[in-house]
Amino acid sequence: MNIQKVMVIGAGQMGSGIAQVCAQAGYEVKLNDREEKFFERGFQTISKNLSRNVEKGRMTEDDKQAVLNKISKSLSIDDANDVDLVIEAAVENMEIKQSIFKQLDAIAPAHAILATNTSSLPITEIAAATNRPEQVIGMHFMNPVPVMKLVEIIRGLATNDEVYAAIEEMTKKLSKVPVEVNDFPGFVANRVLMPMINEAIYTLYEGVATKEAIDDVMKMGMNHPMGPLQLADFIGLDTCLYIMEVLHEGFGDSKYRPCPLLRKYVKAGWLGKKTGRGFYIYE
Ligand code: NAD
Repeated sequence: MNIQKVMVIGAGQMGSGIAQVCAQAGYEVKLNDREEKFFERGFQTISKNLSRNVEKGRMTEDDKQAVLNKISKSLSIDDANDVDLVIEAAVENMEIKQSIFKQLDAIAPAHAILATNTSSLPITEIAAATNRPEQVIGMHFMNPVPVMKLVEIIRGLATNDEVYAAIEEMTKKLSKVPVEVNDFPGFVANRVLMPMINEAIYTLYEGVATKEAIDDVMKMGMNHPMGPLQLADFIGLDTCLYIMEVLHEGFGDSKYRPCPLLRKYVKAGWLGKKTGRGFYIYE
């Protein structure tokens, strides 16, 4: 299967990164979001990332322009009508994802693969909103996308081998490393990572240590490049909460209950780096 045209849905932290790496690998990319301002924010992020590469001598100004020229603006899901692959990176919410996939199923060409960058939601359930579950697959990029090598590739119950092979090959073309994972809540990455982050939040909530001390312990004691609270801010606290809820509901095990402090921050709109405040304050 020959993938040339890609549509990325959601121009947030993940979608903009995915659009950037696809364009850098030579794909034509339509970057879709609900409103012009969200597209612009994503496009500016990509432009800034590429400018940093130019400053560091990793690419020329012409290369940067060539990458930006590969990305076009989309404010309507109808633009999926001529693409070979859609990678959905909208918010982590099953209702929203199912609604997007239902529409995509009606709009995208019959051969098109529909992928989701969900962090934790069952691929099989997202696929069930379409009439082509064999062409639906999970493509879970890590944050920040241009830097991180791993992509978890998750088959839904019906995903066929041809689709899996096409996505694996494309992932390699993006200079990423595909790792095959089965469809269970949180897959591997977030099944292991998110309970650790949640426990770090409990540690703060119970007054065991300050946020800085908790992060220092994990950085200097466990050799993590970033402490769990800072990492939670980078991921987005709304996304962290949603993933914990998926684990909690999916396994029915109280060990996955989200920390009340995490809920409180999300209710306050303190979502981490993207809103300027989470456990830490960002300028
Ligand atoms: P984000 O909040 O930064 O961006 C989401 C974007 O989707 C926003 O720009 C929003 O306007 C847009 N959007 C919402 N509904 C839409 C719709 N119906 N059509 C088009 N655009 C729509 O979120 P994010 O951190 O980029 O996360 C996006 C997805 O990627 C989530 O499913 C998340 O779980 C997953 N993910 C996140 C991380 C992470 O570290 N943040 C890592 C891996 C995967």
